[in-house]
Amino acid sequence: MTAPAQTAQQRERATTIFEKSVPGRRAFVAPELDVPEKPVGDLLPASARRAEPPRLPEVAEPEIVRHYNRMSKRNFDLDTGFYPLGSCTMKHNPKLHERLAAMPGNARLHPAQAPARSQGALELMYNLERALSEVSGLPHVSLQPSAGSHGELAGVLLARAYHDDRGDTARTKVLTPDTAHGTNPATVTMAGYEVVKVETSADGGVDIDDLRGKADESVAALMLTNPNTLGLFDRNIDEITRIVDACGAISYYDGANLNAIMGITRPGDMGFDVVHFNLHKSFTQPHGGGGPGAGPIAVSDRLEPFLPVPVIARHEAGDGGPTFDLDEDRPKSIGRLRGFQGNYGVFVRSYAYICSLGAEGLREASEVAVLNANYLMARLRETAGQHLPVAFDRACGHEFVLSGAPMKRELGVRTLDLAKRMLDYGYHPPTVYFPLLVDEALLIEPTETETRETLDGFAEAIGEILREAAHDPDALLNAPYTTPVRRLDEAAAARSPVVRQPLSG
Ligand SMILES: *Cc1c(COP(=O)(O)O)cnc(C)c1O
Repeated sequence: MTAPAQTAQQRERATTIFEKSVPGRRAFVAPELDVPEKPVGDLLPASARRAEPPRLPEVAEPEIVRHYNRMSKRNFDLDTGFYPLGSCTMKHNPKLHERLAAMPGNARLHPAQAPARSQGALELMYNLERALSEVSGLPHVSLQPSAGSHGELAGVLLARAYHDDRGDTARTKVLTPDTAHGTNPATVTMAGYEVVKVETSADGGVDIDDLRGKADESVAALMLTNPNTLGLFDRNIDEITRIVDACGAISYYDGANLNAIMGITRPGDMGFDVVHFNLHKSFTQPHGGGGPGAGPIAVSDRLEPFLPVPVIARHEAGDGGPTFDLDEDRPKSIGRLRGFQGNYGVFVRSYAYICSLGAEGLREASEVAVLNANYLMARLRETAGQHLPVAFDRACGHEFVLSGAPMKRELGVRTLDLAKRMLDYGYHPPTVYFPLLVDEALLIEPTETETRETLDGFAEAIGEILREAAHDPDALLNAPYTTPVRRLDEAAAARSPVVRQPLSG
């Protein structure tokens, strides 16, 4: 029996929904109007009206359903397979959270609704703030920032406001280790400070002597990720914040890697003044397509007066229970960071996550995330250690870095080629070429929500790909073979992207 040259689905895949359009075909027909028609001119001024109706495809409902279903399968997502994208914490998002976020009282709440009529939402946000305060060990929280990078900007602006308020206006620098995520130096620059790099020591932590040499009266803040982007918890964390404090600067904790420490240790207890959370990483949200996210910050007492407005205020109202309000009257505030109150659906999901796990559960999530990372690191040492050694060989946090440099030297294939081949095996590749400190880096983060069988399968697949590379490097150099789009010319895709298919006819 021979397979047909092309299945109906393959043929469909090549056809756009516009090409399927047939004039007059409908997916839905509105019922006859049984009230007087209102001329559109009464509702919209001429300047806001279209001259012609939009060019929409005219198709039947099954075609629309198949169209979106097909589109959804062209992407790789967490519901498709293992997604060990380091730094991004691609953990499973419980489907219960989607149901809660989609409840009409949550999903349909208008952002301009008056506080008196959105008490439930404000209470949820207030309670989320309290939970994040507990997790971070810092007393005050703002949910305003919409991403980790936005939280960074808020935090550095708070540091500036704090120094300015004390008349301490000569500080011009922010220290960041050379392992920092790219958003850290970008934030520092946007906030008007100069980036000063701090070296990494042989064990992958902050080089204490280098830090000591650079921490002086010209420094406004230190921005540190812990565990850092190498997946390593800094052994000198107390010493680091003491050095920063001694020069009068603020210690900023990039909390993107909170998934390694939730419920185990707290940035506030380590001596930090401000931390950002990536709710879309540590506290479950579908992410990876660019949002929406949330990057709340938690701060110490000395930074509290400068928090962005509005601040959610709780008032004890006696019998009826507490009431909630938005406090805008904060003279020292750095101001507003965005319209409305933040991505509320994100808050609902993260609050549901915290409530359903509880303190013990959050701790367990982190413990299993760290255990999974260390297990996978050990398995990969067996299946791939010869060509892909661990960059800093010690116990890791929730992620770890391999170097593809020996693979490149010995087999003639780069980390990029290995990553592309993984797609054919059904795995999303890890983060590649970051952190910059490691040559041909692969940053692998399995998260706590993957089974041992999945981790074993991944380690064995990498081993198999390396064996393939040894006898047939072309198999990697031309990969992927099975994806909707083969290997792209990445420079051309960035410089002159083709984002529309020409319409036929
Ligand atoms: C993801 C990440 C950020 C930035 O967070 P966004 O929410 O993507 O803006 C900052 N630092 C580290 C270490 C990260 O992993």
